[in-house]
Amino acid sequence: MSLRFQAISNFTKQADEVRVEGPAKITAIFGENVFMLATARKFLSDEAYKSLVTSIKGGKKIDRSVASQIANGIRAWAESKGVTHFTHWFQPLTGSTAEKHDSFFTLKSDGTPIEEFDGGALIQQEPDASSFPSGGIRATFEARGYTAWDPSSPAFIIEIGSGKTLCIPTIFVSYTGESLDYKAPLLKALEAINKSAVDVANYFDKNVTKVTPTLGWEQEYFVIDEGLANARPDLIQSGRTVFGAAPAKGQQLEDHYFGSIPERVYAFMRDFEQESYRLGIPLRTRHNEVAPAQFEAAPIFEEVNIAVDHNILMMDIMTRVAKRHKLKVLLHEKPFAGINGNGKHNNWSLATDTGVNLLAPGKTPKTNLMFLTFFVNSIKAVHDYADVLRASIASADNDYRLGANEAPPAIISVFAGQYLSKVLEDIETRVGEKFDEQDEAILKLDLHRSIPELLLDNTDRNRTSPFAFTGNKFEFRAVGSSANCANAMIVLNTIMAETLKNFKKEVDVLIEKGDKKEIAIMHIIQKYTVESKKILFEGDGYSEEWHHEAARRGLANVPTTPLALDAMITDKAKALFENNGVYSHEELEARHEIELEKYIKKVQIEARIMGDLALNHIIPAAVNYQNKLATNIKSLKEIGLPETHYKAQLDILTQIAEHVQIVYSRVEAMVEARKVVNNITNTRTKAIAYESQVKATFFDEIRYHVDKLEHLVDDDDWTLPKYREMLLLR
Ligand code: ADP
Ligand code: MG
Repeated sequence: MSLRFQAISNFTKQADEVRVEGPAKITAIFGENVFMLATARKFLSDEAYKSLVTSIKGGKKIDRSVASQIANGIRAWAESKGVTHFTHWFQPLTGSTAEKHDSFFTLKSDGTPIEEFDGGALIQQEPDASSFPSGGIRATFEARGYTAWDPSSPAFIIEIGSGKTLCIPTIFVSYTGESLDYKAPLLKALEAINKSAVDVANYFDKNVTKVTPTLGWEQEYFVIDEGLANARPDLIQSGRTVFGAAPAKGQQLEDHYFGSIPERVYAFMRDFEQESYRLGIPLRTRHNEVAPAQFEAAPIFEEVNIAVDHNILMMDIMTRVAKRHKLKVLLHEKPFAGINGNGKHNNWSLATDTGVNLLAPGKTPKTNLMFLTFFVNSIKAVHDYADVLRASIASADNDYRLGANEAPPAIISVFAGQYLSKVLEDIETRVGEKFDEQDEAILKLDLHRSIPELLLDNTDRNRTSPFAFTGNKFEFRAVGSSANCANAMIVLNTIMAETLKNFKKEVDVLIEKGDKKEIAIMHIIQKYTVESKKILFEGDGYSEEWHHEAARRGLANVPTTPLALDAMITDKAKALFENNGVYSHEELEARHEIELEKYIKKVQIEARIMGDLALNHIIPAAVNYQNKLATNIKSLKEIGLPETHYKAQLDILTQIAEHVQIVYSRVEAMVEARKVVNNITNTRTKAIAYESQVKATFFDEIRYHVDKLEHLVDDDDWTLPKYREMLLLR
């Protein structure tokens, strides 16, 4: 019996196998596996605790002797929870996380066994990192890389089965200082935005000394039966189904969205949520998504750095916990063709240390102006650097989703909402007028009361925009579900830092010329509004008209990753990242190279999977059925029946034969095309060729014929689980 039928027959047997006992209250377990400040207070001396706190707040360095005290405290805490090993936990450019476990256990010089965790081990480690992607950096500079403790993200304990490991969040850099991960540049981008945003916020409030970007992600995912997933070599190897005919019932009835959650999935959710709570991940929302078998999890927003860690941790936890429930989580951007894919909306805002959300409309004329300043600067940043923002979310996987039936297009635009669009229009129409007496008109706008009201009205909630203002934050919706949010957050915060820096320069010039501060600010807001007008779009981002309109406006529409990535290494991008201390030119070039290589490998793997499935699953199934038909036709003929009696069989046989021939010849041709493309030495040219010569030329065509075969071939002969089974069995 094929794996497909085994999985189907096992399906009903394994429901409800895992019972999840929850705590009475989430607060009882929240953060119990995290070395939070409250825990630190208990386990650290006054000196060590103070040093840790100042380091977290102000980014101050911790010296070695204090580091050893902190390390001892962390070990005491970890051991009290049964931990025996520790690891530096980091986020290399592979996209997942990396760990290498070492035990506290060691031997003294005389052979006495002890447990130890000193300041050195806390601060710095040297993982054998030669196999992590470096885009040539390590070849050119120095072979080794090291991980360095990031005190701004707290240590935590990961439990796998009964094993417990202390994880120290770290950055990963080469010996010459180039960053090799997502974390190091993210911290630099946060520093850049902090500085620029504080400077601008100080126009309005001198008490602001720190601005922290906030992030609330919404993680979409599919959950399917593990047995069925295991019978799909494509899902196992690439995370997506390369073949599969659309089921009769897809998402057209929209009966899954916000429907009741299937019991088995519900048990899984509660289980992974509890693990997440223990790790201090403040999950808040769970619900069904639009596609069948699709769901979403979202936390309460946090500081970007922490939110990024929590997202990547949760993705890991989900994947592991699902196994207990004999389920498989699919985090790919487009696991199934023809139905919605997975996104990861990044809700983003800026918070001051005085407790103000800079993207929340104000209550007074003064705070209104502050809001408008940050709001318009955000729009200007996206306008000026739309290409870099597009590049930040580019991946082979996200290419399947962007611009597909449900997802934001590859065209970057900003949705401001009806009310604010009107405000911006008003500002714009007053070009040429001097803002003096009249500025009252804008400052007295009732932004605070009007905006939330309008946003509650669903007509003003545009779901099709890649970058939408949603009342007190922007929602970057084009981010892919499997991506590390850091990439998008590095770019978004850097372009905002740059824009705010220039804003301040321009305002200061006007002030020096004698303008009143508020008037100077209004003038630059107006200038930016006019300059970035073309990025604003309130209409339907999925529509054909928008593609034409965007082209007319001169907005870029780059649907494929290899070309979208070009924006990372333009002179403009290099200046942007260098001016803000985020990436050197070398680092950008290296990252560009890594992203291209990732793209090539992904497409290559998918092409191989297609070939393998076609030859080892699809054609054999088709041939089996052909044999049955041929035998049947032959015997009917033998007993003397006229052709009219086996015309249908002949017809099906012919159709199958035609599709099989095409599948076979196109797979062969694809192999040849790959050989040619593999000989290209320039990475960018090779990636472009993989897109155009392999993916675009063959994937859809081969799939078309395979899916036709799925409709024709006897269900009993078909070995790959079908869409209806993966998506609709409950
Ligand atoms: P939806 O967009 O689905 O209607 P919400 O607007 O309630 O849902 O929130 C979506 C996400 O936005 C949540 O993760 C929430 O924590 C986050 N969020 C809310 N306020 C902010 C903020 N100021 N900064 C960043 N994220 C925020
Ligand atoms: Mg949302």
